[in-house]
Amino acid sequence: MRSLPNILIAGTPGVGKTTTCNEILSLASQASPPLNLKHLSINDIVKERTCHTGYDEELQTLIVDEDKLMDEVEKEIADGEGEGGWVIDWHSTAGFAVRWVDLVVVLRCEETKVLFDRLSSRGYKDEKVQENMDAEIFGVVSEEAKEAWDEEGQVVELRSVAAEDIEENAERVVAWVRNWMKYHGQGSTG
Ligand code: ADP
Repeated sequence: MRSLPNILIAGTPGVGKTTTCNEILSLASQASPPLNLKHLSINDIVKERTCHTGYDEELQTLIVDEDKLMDEVEKEIADGEGEGGWVIDWHSTAGFAVRWVDLVVVLRCEETKVLFDRLSSRGYKDEKVQENMDAEIFGVVSEEAKEAWDEEGQVVELRSVAAEDIEENAERVVAWVRNWMKYHGQGSTG
């Protein structure tokens, strides 16, 4: 039994996952008492532990070895006996065991112009921008998440278009963590 929930922050590249994770961690550390949440950047694991088999030039992305990656993720999360509190930052929910994650937050940026600008400013090629725009328009990440975490309330979609959405979303996640702790009898919720 975990003493803190694990949360997967997912969504198309550019929707604001890393920015939101940082805000969640900042709010959690300032809470009274502080919540010991930790950022798990899957991008960093892919790079640092070589969970990739090559580089796709067209899509400007590493070709992820999902089996190896998920072995590494499982080591970090230490399923069941771990203390939890991981805020996992990855564009996809594919490969994650349902039991590792208590809440999936799918960030959405339905304003295509806004997402286009964010992706273009990263220097992505047209193919990569288009691929990600299509994924966002069709709600690919959200569909994938709902298929796996079908229990009510385990997948939430949050709008991440304007700057104020970042703080609002982070506040919602921290409030959700407090409720989870209360419900699971994890002492004072501050
Ligand atoms: P991701 O981790 O999903 O790829 P990032 O957090 O790296 O996205 O954000 C990409 C860029 O878009 C950053 O420059 C960030 O400041 C900006 N951004 C993301 N979400 C928002 C938002 N809701 N409002 C304003 N800017 C945002």
